Parts: sequence; structure tokens; C-alpha cells
Amino acid sequence: MARLTDLVSALPGVGPKTAARLHRLDIRRVVDILSHFPIRHDDLRTITPIAKLSVGQPSVIRGQIQLIATRRSRRRRMALTEALIEDDSGSVRAVWFNQPYLATSFPAGSEVFLAGRLTQSEYGIQLTSPTIERVRARQLLAGRLLPVYRATAGLNQRQLRDLAESALPAAQRIPDWLPESIRRSEKLVDVSRAIREIHFPASIRRLEEARARLSFNELFLFVLSQLLEDQRRAERPAPTITFNEAAARTFVAGLPFQLTTDQRRAAWSILRDLERPIAMRRLLEGDVGSGKTVVAAMAARMAAEHGIQTAVLVPTEILAQQHERTMRRLLSPTISVGRLTSHTAAYGDAGSVPKRQLCQRLADGRLPIVIGTQALLSKSITFKNLGLVVIDEQHRFGVHQRHQLLNARSDRQPHLLSMTATPIPRTLALALYGNLTVSQLRQRPTGRMEIATKLIDESQLEQAESDISVHVNRGQQAYVVCPLIEETDELGVAAATQEFERLRKSSFKRLRIGLLHGQLPSAAKERLLRDFSDGHIDVLVSTPVVEVGIDVPNATVMVIEGAERFGLAQLHQLRGRIGRGSIGSTCYLVSSQPSIATRQRLEAVVQSQDGFALAETDLRSRGPGDMYGIRQSGLPAFSIATLQDVALLRRARSAAESLLANDPALEQSPLVKKKIAGLERSRHRE
Ligand code: ADP
Ligand code: MG
Repeated sequence: MARLTDLVSALPGVGPKTAARLHRLDIRRVVDILSHFPIRHDDLRTITPIAKLSVGQPSVIRGQIQLIATRRSRRRRMALTEALIEDDSGSVRAVWFNQPYLATSFPAGSEVFLAGRLTQSEYGIQLTSPTIERVRARQLLAGRLLPVYRATAGLNQRQLRDLAESALPAAQRIPDWLPESIRRSEKLVDVSRAIREIHFPASIRRLEEARARLSFNELFLFVLSQLLEDQRRAERPAPTITFNEAAARTFVAGLPFQLTTDQRRAAWSILRDLERPIAMRRLLEGDVGSGKTVVAAMAARMAAEHGIQTAVLVPTEILAQQHERTMRRLLSPTISVGRLTSHTAAYGDAGSVPKRQLCQRLADGRLPIVIGTQALLSKSITFKNLGLVVIDEQHRFGVHQRHQLLNARSDRQPHLLSMTATPIPRTLALALYGNLTVSQLRQRPTGRMEIATKLIDESQLEQAESDISVHVNRGQQAYVVCPLIEETDELGVAAATQEFERLRKSSFKRLRIGLLHGQLPSAAKERLLRDFSDGHIDVLVSTPVVEVGIDVPNATVMVIEGAERFGLAQLHQLRGRIGRGSIGSTCYLVSSQPSIATRQRLEAVVQSQDGFALAETDLRSRGPGDMYGIRQSGLPAFSIATLQDVALLRRARSAAESLLANDPALEQSPLVKKKIAGLERSRHRE
């Protein structure tokens, strides 16, 4: 029997080729196979006659393939495989995208099971992307809840299933680290049973029990490690930055605008936090353009008043420059603002200076505020008196990087203000972060234009494209955002590249067009963004993964393709990149999905410009497994727990709190302690 820590090659039938493919799924050891949880199960316990299929209902049919063929879809965007399947009661169409090999693997005449959902599309009723399995003499599949895994090229569902099956005996050796008292009071099944049943459940009920247990694991550890971090924080004092009313008044009076009520409230909470000797951990949420920077500037100003330095960490060079400009407008000439990136250094009126000179000023405390990229994290940078760290677009940085800036510097612990444009619903934020206090900027600063949002289908895409041309001819700019087409196209690179090529040769033949995606080297990315920002590019085709966190007020049109694939809050965030100037802007949401539920979801984005309201709607309506939006949002990504389950999250939180209340050093729960240590180690490798 294989051991948990054995390499996958210890399992029967796994040679170097398969091992390499498994590697792509982050599976190296037997235990990793067991933790590669199914994304769903197909219920093969009842076979539905084709004539009895109903729209929307997940079902399994058994029939014979009559016809099967692959063709390029309209606009040559993807390979479309269509089949006609027949049983004694009738026949039905099935469609798959970008899996051309299906036509060869399952030629006409094959007896197959199909598991999926009957959908009503513009082409009629069909099974869309059903799981397909050949009917075999030795019947492994029928009568089961069949796991479906995230797969990769060269590894199909059957192989992944077989692997899970052969790794399964090792699951017995997984020790249950969760204290028995919690297991009992939370009515959770033990961990090895949960692992077994998450892959091959005996019933839906067993599957749910397994899912509850494994989700609880993740949420519990997440909360516990935060609570431990809180404990450690309390041990190391933070500088107290007392409130100086005159300084606050001068700052506010010097602003070229009136602060919104939300900005005032957020600033007030922050300034109060800074007075306490326990380091602040506060999250400032607000849409792009809601005015987070001025709030951060006010805090930095107050710190500088006491000779305490502020470091502002931003993800890109362009953002560093943008922030520097904004901060300088708000703070100079009273306070000198510096900038440090891997290539450049500058401060105050001195402008560009050698890096060494800037570092010297940070070390001797003459420079109160520095804005920088990753370069700030370098070991060679020291501060005389770092007391406030501001992290913009906090999700772009790993936990480890945050730690580096917060912990390596002195015996005192800096206050931390994280900023994000992701609207996290309040209920969720509290359950997730507990006392990490959250401030929200919900009001838009006055004078900002609403963005006209239009829901269109693919047939109207050309109109949207010609609208772009019209705007460009007036000297404006546009974004085209492409979705992921399939799971193997992790970063959406293929999709965006295809679309770029199409547009370059057709609608935008005469325009200057750029392609931005996550696989470009960061220097190339920066260059593209700069060119766009300087107006040398008219249309930027991009994946959603790359955040264009830049302010290009001249960009006035955005087309978001495959809009149904995005979360509502994410659509809202994308849309926030336009409508930043004084010219009216238009956002086209393109979706050819006719389902009523989908249209209603997207309609919400058309109707509402409130990111927080959209996030609430999202939280209520999106099913599990739809993690794509979450992965980029900065919310923690779990492998099985979903953030929809706020109730379970609350339970995990109170269990973790009461465990620590009784046993603050986890002395009586060595297995939990070990688990947490493992978690922290893996974060450091991030
Ligand atoms: P974000 O929240 O995206 O970081 P910024 O802080 O960059 O937004 O602010 C966007 C723009 O709005 C800046 O030019 C800023 O000067 C301006 N701004 C901020 N607050 C207000 C306000 N209360 N009234 C008018 N303009 C404001
Ligand atoms: Mg910002």
C-alpha cells in the first residue's frame, strides 16, 4: 500500500509521463491526489430516457451516437463538437467546446453515458458539455456518484479516477488533527472518512458530510492562523501616533475638494486606531476612483507629524508613479514624498536620484513617506522609524511579502492599512477577518459620471466594435476584455490572443491595438500599460487576470466578452476602469447565453453602479465551484470551502476562538499546532 508521502510514481501505472502531467495539477505525492478534490459529481444512479429529459435538470442518459462532427464555430473562435445521441425513447443533441478529439474517441455507433444538464440555447435544446463515458462490459460507472476532477491535457477523467481509487487506502493513515471535542460539537465526520467520501461517496448525504468536514478544516485553519497572528501582534507594541487636530484641519483645508462622509468616517477610524499601542490591521475597501489615496495620505501625514515614516507598497511601477503624483499634490510642500522602484528612485524636489541616496534618507529618517514596488522589500532597505505600512491592491501581494515589510524592520510593529477595490460584503468580511476592521467607501466623489452599461449578444458585437472606432476617431481609447474559454487556458492567454488576432485583422485594422496578458514578462506589461496610458495605443485587448489598476481618463469604452463567465463584482470592477474622465463612457457586456437566470444576473450590473450591492447579490446567487472571480479578488482561495457558506465560516470562527481561549499556545492540541506550522511554512514559499 502506498504511503501518503510517497511520490505518485509509487502508484501502479504511473510512469514519468503521467507524473509530469500530474505535476501540472500540482500533484506530486500520493497525498496530493487525495487532496485533488472533485469539482463535482455526476449522478449515474438513475438513467433518464431521452424523451423524459427536462431543461435545467442534471441527468444521465445512455444511448448510441448517431452522428458526431467537429467544426470551427462562428467567428472561428473555438472548436465546436456536435453529436446526436439516440435511445429507445428519442434523440438529443450534445455540444462540446474545444475538445475536438471527442469526435475521434467516440465515433458514430459508440454506446455512451452522457451526464449533464439539458439547456435551452439559441440553437435549440441541447446537452452542453456533458461528461461522456463509453458503456463497457464491466460496468464501473453506472449506479454511482461519479467524481469529476479538474483535468489537464493528456490526463482524462478515467485516469484521475483510477488514481484516486488506488491512492484511497492511504487515506486511512491520515491522522485526524481536529480536536475530538470540536468534531463532536460540530457533528463532523472524521477526516479519513471525509477524504474517502469526497471522492467516492456512497450517497448524496455522505458527500455533503464529507464536504462539510473538509470545508470546516480549511475555514478553521484560516481563522485560527489569523487569531494566532493577532496574539503575536499584541506582544509587540506599535508606535502610538496621537491625533493632532491642527494638522488634520490643515490637511483637510488644503484639499481641492470636500471629503465624502465615508472618507471622513474611514479617516477618523484610522486615526483612532493609530493612537493605540496595538498595531492597526485595517482594510479600506472602495471602488476604483472612490478616493482611497487621500484617506491613506491623511494617515501618513499624521504619522509624519510625529516623525514616523510611512511606506506605501503598490504592485506596479506605473501605480507607484501615479500614487507619488497624487500624494505629492496632497502633501507637499510640507512633507517630502519619495518613490522607489527597481529602476528608479526619486524624492521631493530633488527629482530622480541614485537609489543609494534615497535609501540613505530612509535609513536616517529624513524621508517621511516612500511609495514603492517590490523593491521596497529588499533587505538593503532600512527605515529609521517605520510606523505605518499602506498596501494598495493588497491581494496582489502574498502573505509572506506583507510579513516582510511588517516584521523585519524593528522591535516595534508598524500599523497596516490594506486597500482594495474588491467590494467584500460586510457579513462575509466580518466572518472572514473578524476584528481586522473594515472601512468602506461607498459614495462616489461628486462629479463622477455614471457609466452607461449595455447588455448585448454576440450578433451585436460588431456594433460595439464600430462604436469603439467612433470613439477612437474622436481621440479616445478602449478596452476589450476576454474571458477564459476553458479551464486549461489558466490565464486566458489563448482566448485573448485569438481575439487580438481577429480584431487586428478585421474591425480594428486601422487602429493601434495592443495585447496584454499575464504571461508577458513584467517589463513588457509595464511598457504596454505606459503606451496605453500615454495614448500610443487605441485599443487594449486584455485578459481579466491582468488588472489594469491604472487611471486612464481618456479610455471611454469597454467591451467585456463572455460576460456570463464573470462574477458581478468583478464585472463592476472591470467597468470601473472607464468613466474616469469628464466624457461619458459606455461598457458593453457581451453574452450569448439566453438563460433567464444569467440575463437577470447581468441585468443587475446594467442597473446598479454599487459594487457592494452587486457583491451581496453575487454572494447569494453564485454556486460553489465558481471560484474564478474569487481567485483574483484578493479573497482567500480555498480548495473546497466556498465563501457562500458564511454560516459555516462563523462556526469555524467560534470553534477556533474557543479553542484558543482555553489553550492559547495550543499545548493540548499538538496536531493542530503542527498543521498550522505547515500552513505557515507553505505561505513562506509563496
Ligand atoms: P482609488 O480609490 O481608486 O485609489 P483615488 O484615491 O486614486 O481612487 O482617487 C481618484 C481621484 O478622485 C483622484 O484624482 C482624487 O484626487 C479624486 N478624489 C478623491 N476624493 C475626492 C472627493 N471627495 N471629491 C472629489 N474628488 C476626489
Ligand atoms: Mg488606488
